[in-house]
Amino acid sequence: MEARVKNYMFDAVKELINENAENMGICDCAVCRADIAAIVLNKLGVSFYVAQDKYNKKELSDIKKDNEQKIMERIGQANAIVSQKPRHDSNNETPTLKNYMEDCAVKIISKMIIEKNVEGAKFDDIIADALNRLPVKYVVSRKGELYSKIGTIETQFNVDIISAGVAAIEEATK
Ligand SMILES: [Zn+2]
Repeated sequence: MEARVKNYMFDAVKELINENAENMGICDCAVCRADIAAIVLNKLGVSFYVAQDKYNKKELSDIKKDNEQKIMERIGQANAIVSQKPRHDSNNETPTLKNYMEDCAVKIISKMIIEKNVEGAKFDDIIADALNRLPVKYVVSRKGELYSKIGTIETQFNVDIISAGVAAIEEATK
């Protein structure tokens, strides 16, 4: 089963970076912007929701509005860090900005849900709830870079992922 969950904070941060890039002197290239987004996202809490079939614009704009001041401050701080040592990309290749915790937790918690025979309709809700209980680990990867992070996260956060899964399953089945 494929989980359909979405961290709305991700879109809020990306949109605010793009909307304010010019004012804030943020570099045009995709790598600098992804690096800034990763720093900001790792410091913010998450807001995972079950992704609607139709993209939920209202939810996103609420999250953006509620967190705008905090996000803008963090974008400023992250830009100061990134612009000190930019990793500009001249090939204009789009880097991948990924929450490794999400990949890892979805894999482990999906198995737990199936083992517990929880009703299929609750699958996405449980995954979203569990992810909201876990820290995020956004990482920027460029083409050719090895994805060794996921194994590290799995080992390091295995206990946290399982307890988040247990708590979310309990919540959904009580
Ligand atoms: Zn750049």
